[in-house]
Amino acid sequence: MYVPEPISKLIEGFMRLPGIGPKTAQRLAFHVLVMEEEDVLDLAKALARAKRDLRQCRICSNITDQDVCNVCADKNRDRSVICVVQDPRDVIAMERTKEYNGLYHVLNGAISPIEGIGPDELSIPQLLKRLEDETVAELILATNPNIEGEATAMYLQRLVKPVGLKVTRIAHGLPVGGDLEYADEVTLTKALEGRREL
Ligand SMILES: [Zn+2]
Repeated sequence: MYVPEPISKLIEGFMRLPGIGPKTAQRLAFHVLVMEEEDVLDLAKALARAKRDLRQCRICSNITDQDVCNVCADKNRDRSVICVVQDPRDVIAMERTKEYNGLYHVLNGAISPIEGIGPDELSIPQLLKRLEDETVAELILATNPNIEGEATAMYLQRLVKPVGLKVTRIAHGLPVGGDLEYADEVTLTKALEGRREL
């Protein structure tokens, strides 16, 4: 089948995205052809800009386009609580509940011996550094309720307990094996309220 190169390149590009198969990639590529030129340029610019400007917050490792993210920079947040999550999308999920007013720490992954991910591949050293600050009184472990998430929570609990901090784990009620980011607001709020001390 003859396909002009600009289209086949576009199809290839879309196919590299998660959840996009050949058919969807082809549909999206042909859709680009009928889009307004201005919209196409806006999209291309947004892609390039997100890649260029986004980096990790110097304090919590969340994504930001600044040196320090909005949450860390917000003077109204409760600085005595840090909620540890695996992924920047989990921060978005937690913020959607509007129930949490503390700080975050984003691990950017979870401990997984099978995939060769140990504590040093995650932002755990940065977390320990933050805990040296005596304003922190509670660490909420909100890693995912699956094998890797539980292993990570257990590792952190053992590591941090000697420091004398209150360490809590968000309650189950979250679907086991699921991802925090897919939990609805009510479930996530209940999980947060029902957290227990480790
Ligand atoms: Zn931050």
